[in-house]
Amino acid sequence: MTGTDASAYVGIFTAAVASALYVATYRSFVYLLRYPRNWTSPSLPETLATGALAVLVVALVSLSANGLDIASLVVSSVFIAALLSIIAAPAYAFRPASRPVEFLAKHGDYAGLWLLGPAIVAGLIIPNIKLQAVMLTAMAIEAIWFARQRMFGQGRQLYPLKDRDLSVLKTQAKDDLKAFRRRHHIRELVLSNDAVSWRGCEKTTAPCPFNLYVNRLGLNTAPCCREHMKDLSHYVAGALSKMGAVHWLEGGSLLGAIRENGALLDWEDDVDISVLLTADMTWDKLT
Ligand SMILES: [Zn+2]
Repeated sequence: MTGTDASAYVGIFTAAVASALYVATYRSFVYLLRYPRNWTSPSLPETLATGALAVLVVALVSLSANGLDIASLVVSSVFIAALLSIIAAPAYAFRPASRPVEFLAKHGDYAGLWLLGPAIVAGLIIPNIKLQAVMLTAMAIEAIWFARQRMFGQGRQLYPLKDRDLSVLKTQAKDDLKAFRRRHHIRELVLSNDAVSWRGCEKTTAPCPFNLYVNRLGLNTAPCCREHMKDLSHYVAGALSKMGAVHWLEGGSLLGAIRENGALLDWEDDVDISVLLTADMTWDKLT
């Protein structure tokens, strides 16, 4: 093997490592977004770990035997920061956010691909295989995300929206359901010739973002989510009964069970179950 061959192999290997590191950064970052999606601040250790991964990608891309490549350093940092900001926007827009964040969130299905043009230009100008590999991987992930979003709805069951669910929706939408659906990008809402239905979440799909729908838009909890919560509470109660643990419904769940004839309240976003802990039935035993 000649020296040139060996350095080419090393280049391909480090490019593959840089790509893998970017995938790890992406996954860690996306996992971190469950915090803002649930209206809480991200945990510091997880944020630091994700930041460290991103720094590693940038370092691997811009450092070589020849020293530091400033152009690669700047481009990779700006590219990763811009892309992660775009990816984060929909999670932050679960709460009222600034105009740019709301804008990015609205175009969240494909906004990542807006960086494709700049990435191609940068990749052509800077002959750094590691940088090219990272940008190619990142754009491939965004393309897969876009394709998956386009396939939204496949395998989802349609629930007709009626009675109080429909009247609350109509009130919040000021009777213009089409405009409301478009403004808030509620893709679960299906409007066809007078019929209003909801494309429900399933075990295999992402859950409906009900913090956004219930707490921000003032809608009732989607019928799918209510059904899943009901099934889940029966499952938990069954498991507690099997263990012989004394348990009962509390708060809003109890109110719904009594007032609504066993149903959950329309806007319920949790189920409150209390358990009597004793010397025999300890918390450790339950968990
Ligand atoms: Zn749902």
